[in-house]
Order: sequence, then structure tokens, then C-alpha cells
Amino acid sequence: MTIDELYRDLHAHPELSFQETRTAAMAAVELRAAGFDVIEGIGITGVAGVLHNGDGPTVLLRADMDALPVTEATGLGYASTVAGVMHACGHDVHVACLIGAVRELAATRAQWAGTVVAVFQPAEEAGGGAQAMLDDGFYEKVPVPDVVLGQHVGPAPAGTLGAHPGAAFASADSIDITVRGRGGHGSRPETTIDPIVIAAAIVGRLQTIVSREIAPQETSVVTVGRINAGTKNNIIPESAELGLSMRAYSEEVRQRIITAIKRIVHAESAAAGAAEALIEFAESFPVTINDRVSTERTMAAFRSAFGEDAVIDPGPVSGSEDVGLLATAVGAPLVYWILGGANPEKYLAAANAGTIDRDIPSNHSPFFAPEIQPTLDRGVAALVTACREWLRS
Ligand code: ZN
Ligand code: ZN
Repeated sequence: MTIDELYRDLHAHPELSFQETRTAAMAAVELRAAGFDVIEGIGITGVAGVLHNGDGPTVLLRADMDALPVTEATGLGYASTVAGVMHACGHDVHVACLIGAVRELAATRAQWAGTVVAVFQPAEEAGGGAQAMLDDGFYEKVPVPDVVLGQHVGPAPAGTLGAHPGAAFASADSIDITVRGRGGHGSRPETTIDPIVIAAAIVGRLQTIVSREIAPQETSVVTVGRINAGTKNNIIPESAELGLSMRAYSEEVRQRIITAIKRIVHAESAAAGAAEALIEFAESFPVTINDRVSTERTMAAFRSAFGEDAVIDPGPVSGSEDVGLLATAVGAPLVYWILGGANPEKYLAAANAGTIDRDIPSNHSPFFAPEIQPTLDRGVAALVTACREWLRS
């Protein structure tokens, strides 16, 4: 199969987090065909391939494999064949490009020396995939890399590449809070501790974290996206649930927000004489930090390979990623870049009309449909170029 055919096949067969068995099997077949040693089933469905090719640095290339619970609305001929599941974040692009890079690096091994580790990671969307691989002894199975490289397709003109040095993707934490009161009759509040009133006070007070406790130069978000309590108008319920989402661009700010959330939730509960609330951390992504020196080096390699105009600095992205865990676990530098996948003419027209937000479908949209070319060829070339920048020539 060509890379284009492979991509269409992956797109038509999306798999949810930790269920990427078909995708993982395809990756393993490709890695073996290219002469890599293959380890399967790391962190449930993860696959790693190792190609030792003489003395030299070790470079890790990472692609995530999972799709999303989204019903595809692109109308493409190769649209999802799985009801309610779609590659709406473009991880199929990442898998296809890494397979392309594996093929090319294997075919050109006379031109370089070192070790390439190709990683097909499960469950980026659910937030647990990279950690699951690490918990499964990932770095006992593959050599520790000198650098971790990867890419994410996004709504920039197809073929564009760009990485932001430093904090590149926000941290994201999903926090579930259960406020515990004492239920009773709506006509007799004196016999109860009303968790709805406590929850309302918490929601109001949480708004002061970003506005009053975080410096204005810092960017962060605290959102209460879910609130559930009660069954009937004349019953004071036993408990109330709040669902929070928070983002930050430094670990310091993230910790400060988490501390403030705990303080406010516990203090408001105590103020009402209620039992201590339950605070559970559901999904968690750390801040994704691109190593400055390594990022400059990679972008310089991209500029000389693809021209000045092909390389941008996208600035910090508010989305989140778990690729950084593969780097921080062993103290390796990370370079994670954006690969543009939008139709360049449509993008230009939307940019001129000021309607990019409306007209260019973003990741996770049911209309997200990267241009197959030049996106795939550029994605393969970017991985190979970045990898060769570290390998011995
Ligand atoms: Zn996503
Ligand atoms: Zn993604």
C-alpha cells in the first residue's frame, strides 16, 4: 500500500482509546517489513519498533493512534465505517506519516548511523496512553532516546510546519467534585445541609482564581462545565456534583490553581458545616514543553529542507498533549511540531475574509478533513528530516 492508501484505510477504520488493535497490527507489520525489532502490547495496545544501525544517537519518533467518539460528517469517499467513531483529530495522519518515515529511514540506512525508535502510542485523547506505556516498563523495552520527536496535524495551510519553543501546549486537568451535604425536606432546611447552596458558592468563588490569584501575564482557564444535583423541587439532595476543566502554561501556575481549587472547595464546605467534599482528578495532561535549543535546531533543519515560508511559529496552543511524558520520564528534550493539513486555497480565502474560525474545521470537528497531499508527504519528510538532524550522517 502507498502511504495515501494506508491513510485512507486508517481513516475508514478508526478505533477508540486503548482499542487500537487493528491500527497497532498494521504498524507492527510495517515495522517488521522495514527490519525493525518490534514490541507489541505496551500499555495495552502500544507498539514500538527499534532499528539499531551502528553507533550514534538514539531518536524516538512518536505517533498517537486513537480516534474520537464523533460521528463523521465530511462526506469523504473514505469516511469512517464505524458508527459514532471518527479520526477527527488526525491521528491517522500521524500513523501514516510515521509508517512513511519508518520505510524511508530503513531504505536509506546506508546514509545514517544510530538507533531509531518508532512509537505508536495508544489513547492520547483519553490522556492515559503515554503514561500507560511508561507504567508498562516502556524504557526497559526500548533504548532511552537523546531526543523525542513528534507532530500533530492541525488547521494551518497544508505542508506548513511550526513549533513553539518553550510551553507549547497547555496543561489540562479534569476534576470531579462531590459536595456532601445532608438531604431532607425542602420545607425544613434547618434539618439539612444544602449542597446546592455550597456548590453555588464554590462556582462563584472559583471565578476569582484566575482573576485574583494568577498574574495577568499568565494565561489560564478554570471552567465549571458540569453541575448536577437534586431530583425534585421540594427535596434538598444529599450531594451535588461539579465537573471542572482547567488549563495552564506552566507547572507552577497549574499547581497554584489546583491548590486554590482544593482550598475553596474545602473552605466552602466547612463554612456550611458540611463533611469534606470529594475531589477527584480524572484526566490529566502536563504542560507540553518544547526544549528551546532542540526546537531551534529542528526548525532550522526544516527551513533549509522546505524553505523559509514553510516554517512558522504557531505560538502556544490551548490544546493539550501527553507526548511530553515520554521525554520527561528520561530527561530527554522534546520537539513537537504542528503539521498544517488545511486546503491552502480555502485557508487563504478564509484568512482574507477573516473567517478561519468558521470556515476551516478544527481538530475534533465532524468536518475535520486534512488534505491528503501535500500533508502526508510533508509529514513524512518532516519526521525524516528531524530524525536525520540527530542521527550520525
Ligand atoms: Zn484530539
Ligand atoms: Zn490529537
